[in-house]
Amino acid sequence: MLKIAIQKSGRLFEDSTALLRDAGIAFGSSPNRLRSQASNFPLEIIFLRDDDIPEYVEGGVVDAGIVGENVFLEKRKTARVIDRLGFGQCRLSIALPKNTPYRSVQDLNHLRIATTYSHILVDFLTANNIQADVHEVSGAVELAPSLGLADAIFDIVGTGSTLLANGLYEVETVLRSEALLLAGPGLAQEKQEILDRLLFRIHANRNAKNHRYILLNAPNDQLETISRLLPGMKSPTVLPLAIEGWSSLHSVVREDVFWEVLEQLKAAGAQGILVTPIERMIL
Ligand code: ATP
Ligand code: ZN
Repeated sequence: MLKIAIQKSGRLFEDSTALLRDAGIAFGSSPNRLRSQASNFPLEIIFLRDDDIPEYVEGGVVDAGIVGENVFLEKRKTARVIDRLGFGQCRLSIALPKNTPYRSVQDLNHLRIATTYSHILVDFLTANNIQADVHEVSGAVELAPSLGLADAIFDIVGTGSTLLANGLYEVETVLRSEALLLAGPGLAQEKQEILDRLLFRIHANRNAKNHRYILLNAPNDQLETISRLLPGMKSPTVLPLAIEGWSSLHSVVREDVFWEVLEQLKAAGAQGILVTPIERMIL
């Protein structure tokens, strides 16, 4: 049995439960639940505040956890980063009141900076040789300048609308963060095997999302050019059409280059191009 901690409620909850459910794992997650045992996989899900997850992983109270990189780095706990999960994206930035000019990081010298992320901030200031006054606060960081508590803030930025609403603007992005899958340093072999099975499923889903299945018809004299455009997993599948001189070609294409490839295929003489999503993909 593998114990995994996820956020009980908040910005990571939906994506974390979806990640496990898309991996075929069935479990209950009603709001009052603190733990839940999967019915079809050796996994127990523990619902925690995100701030507690790094410590629980380090201490072996849970075997794995899903938490923002921002929280993981700030908590200074030891754990293995098993995977970057691509959701919960945000950044940690320094922001100033909009009437304070800013040219370079030197302008932060001697400022009072309010934050809940003092470890990450101090590391950044030290690396840039800046002497500033770090004020640790426990919340409502963006109010600190207007209350006269600080000259600047260091906080999470999603879209930037909270900064704007508080008359602040972003001057330095210190960390780009996303959700991480963490695991304890020394998992027993049986637990590591369950974690590997979970990862296998997560990757099959991710690969499927990042690729499309493509089918097209091509004149035989263009097959070589077209095959070069569609390397696929090993090489494209080529089947003869009932019409003399034509073939049908099947392959996969990466989502991020998909439109360019489609244009090139058309230019190379491909016809009747069909593109469909892939449900699971194992490389
Ligand atoms: P908890 O009650 O678990 O302590 P919280 O209030 O500390 O929750 P949330 O606001 O739910 O935390 O954010 C959880 C994580 O989601 C953040 O630590 C960060 O990694 C990520 N995140 C993604 N986008 C944003 C955003 N726009 N603002 C804040 N956090 C974000
Ligand atoms: Zn939190």
